[in-house]
Formats: sequence, structure tokens, C-alpha cells
Amino acid sequence: MGKNIRIAVLHFAHETVTFLRNDTTLDDFIYPGSPASGEALLSAYPKSYMGGFVKMAREFNEVELVGIESPLWPRTGTGSGWITTEAYEHFLGRMIAELKNGGPWHGVYLALHGAMAVRGVARPEAELARRVREVVGPSVKIAATFDLHGNEDHEFLEHADMGFAVKYFPHYDEYLQGERAARMLVRAIRGDYKVAHAVRKVPILTATVRMWTGASPWMDLSQRALTWEAREVDVYVNVFFGFPFADVPDVGITVQVFTNANAKLAGEIAGDIASLAWRKREKLLSSTKIYSIADGVALAKAATAKGDTPVVLADHSDRSGSATFLLKEIIAQGLSHVLIATIADAKATAKLKADGVKAGDAFDMEIGGLVDESAGTPVHIQGTILRAVEGQGQYWVVVRFGRDNVLVLSTYLVQVMEPFSLAALGLDIHAFRAFAIKSRVHFRKGFDDNGFAKTILLVEPTSPFLGTVHLEALPYQNVDLKKFYPYGEPKFPR
Ligand SMILES: [Zn+2]
Repeated sequence: MGKNIRIAVLHFAHETVTFLRNDTTLDDFIYPGSPASGEALLSAYPKSYMGGFVKMAREFNEVELVGIESPLWPRTGTGSGWITTEAYEHFLGRMIAELKNGGPWHGVYLALHGAMAVRGVARPEAELARRVREVVGPSVKIAATFDLHGNEDHEFLEHADMGFAVKYFPHYDEYLQGERAARMLVRAIRGDYKVAHAVRKVPILTATVRMWTGASPWMDLSQRALTWEAREVDVYVNVFFGFPFADVPDVGITVQVFTNANAKLAGEIAGDIASLAWRKREKLLSSTKIYSIADGVALAKAATAKGDTPVVLADHSDRSGSATFLLKEIIAQGLSHVLIATIADAKATAKLKADGVKAGDAFDMEIGGLVDESAGTPVHIQGTILRAVEGQGQYWVVVRFGRDNVLVLSTYLVQVMEPFSLAALGLDIHAFRAFAIKSRVHFRKGFDDNGFAKTILLVEPTSPFLGTVHLEALPYQNVDLKKFYPYGEPKFPR
């Protein structure tokens, strides 16, 4: 059988914290492996959306996939601010040119995140879809995958046909959503699925730390979407929780529903889930307990004394990776056997690298802090270097200090999701009684949802700056907080 379905595959993803001072630049997207095209792009994220998409698409013999040159995630991860217009236009321009020259196409797959923020472009994913549509024409089917932290509204779907967002946070179903996108794209291309969609915005804005789907009522939103998908044939539901640290006009919760040519049903389901979210708005904001850093460390100490270990101390608020508040408090309260991972400090790691430090060397320097007020002030650490190693585009220095504590210094923000990922640094994970990490919810994958940690404490500094649940302290330019619960009393749109 000939390959008579040609699908172009594109990737452009970032979760942009626009309140960080360091822009995400063209240079941040260019490193060994990125941009990627052809088979390298198709195999770039084998366990994520891309992997699922490619696997399923290739189950259809007639499908040919073409990897269009695309940037992978920037090397800064989620620890960088506004994407420059230059970086966005550079990659988008090359994508569009390749689409124009490489056609004809039957379908386009866009592997996106949804919370990308670009200087001068209000809705970057919708703009990408618009430009793709412009070049491929009205009959070509366009499907995308999204993170549930995407900031979306009706605009993307004015240009694209379908989107598939993950339903779990941590995002366990990325691969699954990639598979669904592939299958539904093929069905739409064959004329076997005629998309009717509905979109509802829900004016609720809150910090991502609250959005764990392992507990109600966030779990209830995911479950309601799953229930609708199970009870109705050909229904697909996205519940975007949104990303409040991107200062963009389409923040807040968004419900999208796709049906096979049944606009009425799509509208009913979207309305049901939107009103469910609205009815539960108080609980959505109060179900997660967040401690001050001082209280959290004291509770960790008590849990350690009782043997309820290991303990996780998650400073969910650190958006730069350089925050030192938790490290300071651990030292102040004399906690022992703690692994602190990580403190990001590009200057310190560059200096240590230049000095050629090695295991056994004495360590005596100020680290962390300073990138902005939410990072706090540097901390003076004296200890012994256990390891200094290059890996995953960063420089890592492991330092033993204090009472059997270990500190991991990194170049960029690192969100530790699995304790055993740190074993790669030569650490005996079982030797620690507590883990001080920078994560909101993703850490539950390796610390909670597998029974590893016995005590979990979410902490944040008391000052209401970037990263904390106090969104009212952020200098929004494109968001009117009064239009969102709990900052104003918005009317729920009927
Ligand atoms: Zn996410």
C-alpha cells in the first residue's frame, strides 16, 4: 500500500514565566540536538506526546510522517521569561517555509504546551496554527497536543481542528494524548470524524501548586472529563487549568469539547464541566495545605524524629531555581541527612567549572539567591565536594556540608520529580531522611504516587512574590485580576 496520507510534524513548546527577568532567547533553543528535524524530531520525546503520536500514526500503513525542523524545549526548561519575538519568528518562519515547499499535506500535527508567552504575540499557539492554516489551506486537518497548564481560549480552534490535553497533573498521560491525536487526525483526514467543538472559559485563576489531580476537587474535573469521554462515543474533552505565571490574555480555566458533528452535545458537555468547576471554586482554592518555610522545616524535623521518613519539603514557589529560603531554614533549624536539590547558580557553577574542581576539594562559597527578590539572598556554604560533572546541558556540583547534608548545585532550574534520578550524581538515595526540592506537583510522580515518601510538606516563603500563591502581588499587564475568582466577583458566563 502506498503512503497516501502525508502528515507534517511540528514541535514548539514552552511554559513561560513572564515575570522572570531572563528572556528566553533564540540561543536558548539552539543546542546539540535542537532544533531537530526528520527522524530526530520524531524520536525526540519517546515517552511523551511525540512518542505516542508517532507510534500510533505508524500503525496506519498509509501514513507518512515528515518531521519539520523544530526547536526542542529551551535549555532553560521552565526557568526563563518572555520568549523573544526574534526566537519565535525565526523558528516559525522556517517551519512555514518548509511546509510551503514540502507539500502537499493531508494533516499537520503540532506538539505544543499552551503556556508559551512571546513578546508582541498575544496568543502564540493560535498564531502558529493561523500561519500553518494559511500555508496548508482549509482542507488539511490540524491536530495538536497540549499540557493542561495551557492558556487557551477559542482562538486556537478557529485555525486548528482538534487539540488533546493531558488530564492528570503530574502529566501521566502525555503519551496517551499523543496516540489519540494521531488516531483522530487520521480519522479526520479520512472524513470519518467531522469535528464540532465547544469552548467555555471559567474565570478562576490560581497557582499551579493547588492543581494536583490526586485529590478533589481538581480530581473531580479530570474525572468528569473522563466520564464524558467514556459514556459518549467520539467525545474528547480538555480541561485546561491554565498557567497564572504567564501574563497573557487567555489565562484561567478553559474547557474544550470535541464531538463527531454534534455541536449541541459539545456545548452541553462544555457547559457541564465549566459549571462544575465554578460550583467547586472555593474548594479548588482551599484543598491544598501550604506551610510557611519555617513551619514546614519544623514539621519535617518532627516527622524525622518520629521516623515518618523520607520527608519531602517542596518549595513550590521557586521559579528561577535559585531560591535559598528553604536551604537557609534547614541550616537554621539544624536539620540533618537532607538532600537539597537543587540550587541553580549559573555564575557559581561556571566558576567551579573553570576552576576544574573535583571530588575531595574543599568547598567554601556563597551560592544561590539574587536573581530577583523571589530567590532571596546568597547562602555561605562550607563543605566538601563529592562530585562535579557535566550532564544534560548543565554543570552539577554535589557538596556535603553540615550534619550529613548534601547540596546539589546546578546551572539552571531543576525540578526533581524522581528521587532516583539523583542517583546518577552518585548519591545513595536511601541515606537521606529528607529531600528539599523545587517542585509543585510533578514530584508526586516519584515521591508520592509510588509510596516513596511518608511525609509531604509543601512550603513557600511568607513574602507574596513571584511563584507563591499570592497572584495579587504580581505586576500583570495583560490580565485584569478582578475578572477572576478569587480576586474579584466575576459572573459565571451562562
Ligand atoms: Zn503542566
